[in-house]
Amino acid sequence: MTATPAPALSAVSGQFESIFGSAPDGVWQAPGRVNLIGEHTDYNEGFVLPFAIDKAAKVAVRLRGDSCVRLLSTFGKQGLVETETTTLAPGSAKGWTKYPLGVVWALGQLGLDVPGFDLLMDSDVPLGAGLSSSHAIECAVIMALNDLTGAGLGLEDMVLATQRAENDFVGAPTGIMDQSASLRGSKGHAVFLDCRNQSVQLIPFDPREAGLVLLVIDTKVSHSHADGGYASRRESCEVGAQVLGVTALRDVGIGDLEEASGLLDSATFRRVRHIVTENDRVLQTVERLTTDGPAHIGLLLDASHASMRDDFEISCPELDLAVETSRAHGAIGARMTGGGFGGSAIALTPVGHEQEVRDAVVRAFAAAGFTTPDVFPVTPAAGAARLA
Ligand code: ADP
Ligand code: MG
Repeated sequence: MTATPAPALSAVSGQFESIFGSAPDGVWQAPGRVNLIGEHTDYNEGFVLPFAIDKAAKVAVRLRGDSCVRLLSTFGKQGLVETETTTLAPGSAKGWTKYPLGVVWALGQLGLDVPGFDLLMDSDVPLGAGLSSSHAIECAVIMALNDLTGAGLGLEDMVLATQRAENDFVGAPTGIMDQSASLRGSKGHAVFLDCRNQSVQLIPFDPREAGLVLLVIDTKVSHSHADGGYASRRESCEVGAQVLGVTALRDVGIGDLEEASGLLDSATFRRVRHIVTENDRVLQTVERLTTDGPAHIGLLLDASHASMRDDFEISCPELDLAVETSRAHGAIGARMTGGGFGGSAIALTPVGHEQEVRDAVVRAFAAAGFTTPDVFPVTPAAGAARLA
């Protein structure tokens, strides 16, 4: 008996065939991610605890015999984009095609000769919501090209190649968290990542089992990693590490903060304190999840939000309102997630209270004159894989 393909899978495969004239060589999927806790700690060589979500980018791909690349997305108005693997350079691509072409370019930088290909991309990861829709695309593409070309890259190589694509081709100064979650995620787990050495440990995280649901509240406030806020936070962290004489803020402990306060100006000190306490909160969250389960991490999520709001100053009125309102209506813990200045908040909510939290947040946003947010549940899901 042959298995019936999942509807979404047969849809992307069938669409590919009707657009490009024959079936794809395969279909790959890579999820978006939510960072449970550990914000801006990645580039300080610290700890993060993201999980892959049940929303993903799918790519149907067929290698060609020449160097032509044809790209189409089921989303947006860009239409079919045709280019050559041989002419790629940073700044040469537009719109969503920056992500697949960035991967081709990054593989080229590694000395891999990627042939031309046709690609259809479909994704249900909301874009610009801080759920890393861009890495979902990059991870699906790198998995596909790695498989089809027999390049033999391991997960670690793929993490670094997609980072190179984002940093040097797309021009977004992101770390390794997003693609690590997308590539290494596992159902019912969070990915505990040490950004100093890329070591990974899967930590049980199944909110449902604990009678909880993790809601994402997309504030619809657009964030941009390339803007000045992100760069200036990175710079403050670098200055802090330099003055304190450490390689990275990862090396500063809670017990060092008192001394640090005398050495740093007050703004830099608050930035440093966020990173140091956030690293500690990640470790505590891992400990709680391992010993007691998701019902015991609420206060750590709350403390993380307060630290980002007051010390790192990367929240915004919409994120604060989402967090406060969901907490007031039954969530056991809530925080903004992602780089900040917009994007999404998460609220760990008892099953049965989802509707109350959703309605309360929508009402509060309307009363404040904010754009209507999207509120939806996510579950910790499997990482990137070949589907067909
Ligand atoms: P995030 O990764 O947090 O969602 P980014 O700004 O890094 O936000 O990436 C969003 C970009 O990714 C969009 O502007 C678009 O170019 C691209 N993108 C993501 N998903 C899709 C999609 N389904 N279709 C077309 N483009 C997409
Ligand atoms: Mg992104």
